[in-house]
Amino acid sequence: MKILVVEDSDILRESLARGLRQAGYLVDASPDGEDGFWRIEEETYDAIVLDLGLPKLDGMNVLERMRASRNQTPVLVLTARDTIDDRVTGLRAGADDYLVKPFAFDELQARLEALTRRSNGVASNNLHIGDLTIDLAARTVDIDGVSINLSRREYALLEMLALRSGKVVSRSDIEANIYDEHVEPNSNVVDAAVSILRKAIDKKDERSRIETVRGQGYRLLQP
Ligand code: CA
Repeated sequence: MKILVVEDSDILRESLARGLRQAGYLVDASPDGEDGFWRIEEETYDAIVLDLGLPKLDGMNVLERMRASRNQTPVLVLTARDTIDDRVTGLRAGADDYLVKPFAFDELQARLEALTRRSNGVASNNLHIGDLTIDLAARTVDIDGVSINLSRREYALLEMLALRSGKVVSRSDIEANIYDEHVEPNSNVVDAAVSILRKAIDKKDERSRIETVRGQGYRLLQP
């Protein structure tokens, strides 16, 4: 999963980004509303952590603009202004959840997980595709109860394909989702990641679970 953090406090932004990366998320971070809105327009995120008090463009304006352009990415708003008025305004502008500063990192993580699960239409933490089980909260994968070791990137790829299993996912969507700003993508990154993932989850002498759809992308096959 890929998260955007828009927060002007350097200390808070950096510590959130670090914590979320350690928790296995891919993270982009943005120091102001203008840059944040630009990223939201350019990239696809699974969720956005949005501070309200931001330079250049206020968090509420970012939210209103993205909802006006029909971007439905779940947004967790951070606010220091703990008043009923702000909460009501925020919810009307399309925020999905709120956290009032200061907050515990664990709570932010729990709320993000709930938001992304809801928006993917997944009621439980576990996704089952045949003998393959993905625990979205723990970010673990097993096949027939045997756990599979995946790097952060291959896990992100598998999770993305699994959340849309049976559907073709384009290379550009994959590329945008398995890299964050700390990695410089190159042309064969998607193929390389798919190839590593196939080695990890496919059974010997059986058809690959991941189908290459020529000219379109990749699809995780349903059994
Ligand atoms: Ca702020």
